[in-house]
Amino acid sequence: MTTAHSVGRFATRWAASLKGAVAPAMTRAELEDFLRDLTEQLAEAMRSTPCRPELGRAVGKALIDAHYRDASVLNRTLALLDDGFVAELGYEDSADVASRISALHGAVAEGFAIALRDTVLAEQETTQRAALAAARAAEERRRASEARFQAVFAGAAVGIGVVDLSGAVLEVNDAMAGMLGRTTDDIKGRTIGDVIGPENIGHAYAEFQKLLAGDIDQFRLETAHLRPDGRVANVDLSMTAVRNRTGTPDFFIGVAVDVTERRRLQNRLWHESRHDALTGLPNRTLFFERLEAAEQPLGLCYLDLDGFKNINDSLGHDAGDYVLRAVANRLRKAVEPDGCTIARLAGDEFVVLIERCGSPDRVAREAEKMLAVFGRPIEFDGEQLSVTGSIGVVHSALVGRDPGRLMRAADVTLYQAKANGSGRWERYDPARGEQELTRHSLATAMPAALAHNEFLLHYQPLVSLDDSSVRGFEALVRWDHPRLGRVSPGQFIPVAEETGNINALGQWVLEQGCLQARRWFDEFGIDDLYVSVNVAATQLRQPTFVADVLGTLDQVGLPAMCLQLELTESAVAGDTHGALVALRELAAAGVRLAIDDFGTGYSNLAHLGRLPVHQLKIDRSLLASSRKGEVVDPAHDKIVAATISLAHSLGLDVLAEGVETTPQADRLRLLQCDGAQGMLFGGPVPVSEAAEVLACQTRRADSA
Ligand code: C2E
Ligand code: MG
Ligand code: MG
Repeated sequence: MTTAHSVGRFATRWAASLKGAVAPAMTRAELEDFLRDLTEQLAEAMRSTPCRPELGRAVGKALIDAHYRDASVLNRTLALLDDGFVAELGYEDSADVASRISALHGAVAEGFAIALRDTVLAEQETTQRAALAAARAAEERRRASEARFQAVFAGAAVGIGVVDLSGAVLEVNDAMAGMLGRTTDDIKGRTIGDVIGPENIGHAYAEFQKLLAGDIDQFRLETAHLRPDGRVANVDLSMTAVRNRTGTPDFFIGVAVDVTERRRLQNRLWHESRHDALTGLPNRTLFFERLEAAEQPLGLCYLDLDGFKNINDSLGHDAGDYVLRAVANRLRKAVEPDGCTIARLAGDEFVVLIERCGSPDRVAREAEKMLAVFGRPIEFDGEQLSVTGSIGVVHSALVGRDPGRLMRAADVTLYQAKANGSGRWERYDPARGEQELTRHSLATAMPAALAHNEFLLHYQPLVSLDDSSVRGFEALVRWDHPRLGRVSPGQFIPVAEETGNINALGQWVLEQGCLQARRWFDEFGIDDLYVSVNVAATQLRQPTFVADVLGTLDQVGLPAMCLQLELTESAVAGDTHGALVALRELAAAGVRLAIDDFGTGYSNLAHLGRLPVHQLKIDRSLLASSRKGEVVDPAHDKIVAATISLAHSLGLDVLAEGVETTPQADRLRLLQCDGAQGMLFGGPVPVSEAAEVLACQTRRADSA
């Protein structure tokens, strides 16, 4: 008899037998409830006549639906039906029961199998559907991104091209095609070499190799592409490798920008910055670039028009410009074009640079041709203007290869050509040239040297022969030249005088000397200590000289008596009216005046007596002895003696320069010379040492 109790017991056994099977999410109680339902159905099938196999099938299906899909579940269930089911539910051992159990067996197995198949099929179908949907979505996205790419590709303002690994062009956009002056189809058949051009292909090939090897991600190059219409397109191309997941490139993408306009503008600017607007010739900048890069040996012809200023001044600048243009045009025709650069350096200065100039004669020939252009007058506004020029000719064999030196040599030689009478060419003369070159380089470097503080002053004591005490210092200028080292005033003062730089330099010395005197005045309180400053003849002739000196004293706050100016005899001789007025004004203001290097010039004491001068400095050449062991040259000794007594009679102090020995000093004392300067008492020294001398002297005076 089936009772609820027996059904429950069987369900419990059934549940226990399923233990270990891959279990659905059911508690043991839920599982027993579930199996009790199934046991009821099985019992129902046992009771029915005829036996209802659909109930058995339903049980099989229910197991599948409850996610019992493992084959072991079916096996264990069927085994229980054979064994425990009959016993637990109390069926009698009859042929009918046996046949019913057997039918149930089949039905449960069938229901289980069918349900399992249906579920798997259903699941497969869902999976497939999902896969299909996913695939469709991916396709959609790919299409969208492709469309976006196509839009960018086609509509881009920059040229884009796709190139395969063999260098064949797969795809280009309209912009790229337009840039290269071809159709997209025309380019698609070509290789990248056709686009890049033969002169760049070597370099590009090497870069492609690096891209392939993964050494670089991108490279750029600028190509000049000759279009079918004959125009040249300057293209700035950058190539990138597109790599797959393994990192190897699948293809290359090139992005190109048309830089033709930019190039053209750059070229124009370059041309304008390197050519002279008036004549169209290369200008100074381009000339020096070419000179730096020129192939040796070199020849230079440096041309300067004679008296060009007159044309400008008398006929006006239009005439001047016209002449310059005419000369430039004639030079263009005259000068051998091969290996020569004609440039206009400035104003009326032209230069011809000859590269690979085998012999100095070659330069001479060009110079002849250049002079020949002045053979015919230049016609301007109905007037026949005869213009001539002078040329300095140099060859690197004589001067060396340094461009700066070559130019200075050319300049020096041009100057000589002018000095020898214009309208001629002159060859560089090494003997004269060296000296001139140094002078020349000193002259040109001087203005900048002042600005760069390359000058300094040394101070040499001026002593009293009575007691050897220091009464003043002579300020002596030195030049620390960055290349030549310390240059002595004997070398650069004459150059400064010639070039007029002496005025600026002299003013600088004056200011520095006065400032120093003022500092010593403040520090040592010696009322009558003076600084003696050398003044060149040209300075004295400056109309502002007196005002400059008095202004400087005023600015520095130095008493006039603390400043002495040294002038040479020649500076105050000759046309002396202007100089005389200046000296009188200075003397009236209290400035001390000295005649420097007396004995080297006119030595006209009668004349000097009329000047408001305080001191006579006897040149050291009068102290030099011609014979060894002699104190002084007997002839010089007489002159010195006479000079001292004459000077005294005119009311002048006398100071002897270049006193080097004690016997010299003794002799001078005997001759009643007032002061001395020279190695015996101390040479020119830097300001700190001069201060030391003063400090010593002050200490001695204080202790006395
Ligand atoms: P100077 O005015 O006659 O100056 C005296 C020169 O004699 C100095 O040469 C000095 O160093 C040198 N000297 C001094 N004692 C002795 C000695 O015992 N033996 C010998 N053999 N020489 C001695 P330095 O400094 O070379 O100056 C040379 C000349 O340059 C000066 O001759 C002066 O004419 C000129 N100079 C120097 N500084 C200036 C300046 O600031 N302006 C101008 N216009 N000329 C200057
Ligand atoms: Mg002097
Ligand atoms: Mg002197």
